[in-house]
Amino acid sequence: MRRLILAFAICASVIVPIFLLVLFPPWWPIALGVLALSHALVLWPTLRPNSQWLGPVMTSFEAGANEVWLTIDDGPTDDTPDLLDALDALGVKATFFVKGVLVEQRPELVRAMLGRGHTVENHSQSHPSGAFWCLPPGKVAWQIDRCSNALETVSVRPRLFRAPVGMKNPFVHPILARRGMTIVGWSVRGFDSFGDNVQRVVDRIVPRVTAGSIVVMHQGRGFSVACVTGVVRALQAKGYAFVVPAPERLNTKR
Ligand SMILES: [Zn+2]
Repeated sequence: MRRLILAFAICASVIVPIFLLVLFPPWWPIALGVLALSHALVLWPTLRPNSQWLGPVMTSFEAGANEVWLTIDDGPTDDTPDLLDALDALGVKATFFVKGVLVEQRPELVRAMLGRGHTVENHSQSHPSGAFWCLPPGKVAWQIDRCSNALETVSVRPRLFRAPVGMKNPFVHPILARRGMTIVGWSVRGFDSFGDNVQRVVDRIVPRVTAGSIVVMHQGRGFSVACVTGVVRALQAKGYAFVVPAPERLNTKR
């Protein structure tokens, strides 16, 4: 699919418009339309989180009865110790997708995550939210490798990568494949990066969770600990158990 989209995009953005404009100048609106379509075909799967058009994005996992996976992005941040205490009190293991630059600054917080039995994976070096989607291949590779290198200093060899804000351009999948890494999206999110209303986040997430859901939340916002606690309690009340699935159990169904 990815190769088909890119081949079409290259043909449609260069060859077809030139061919039409040289041989049939009055057909310029068609050339313009083809050009716009070629751009849209690349931009849509790039900007749309969890789109599978450019390659597999893991959006759920093969679950036993009522199992869900809690993933927490953007750490390690100052609230990590409180968050770890809260997860311990709730009896929950999670996966932290961390930023390399913060790992370099606060490796002791990552060691604390690992020491409490959680797993830690790659969420890019500097988390360029507004630019990751349009980075050239060298910079994409740098974002991934630099974060992996930071994690190796705390004895973690990441196998999973979550793109900043879920956007991945056509370079990301081949770069990850060469490193034996898999891109992970999510099944359910609660937009907990914004606001301070715990109940609103709980109401967004909990009704949409099913067995095998990947729930994405964040840390480092003022209400993150309360937010994670509220969502976990509500899901536990519905009978869900939290697990960290092996990468082999991940799949692309939603
Ligand atoms: Zn993030």
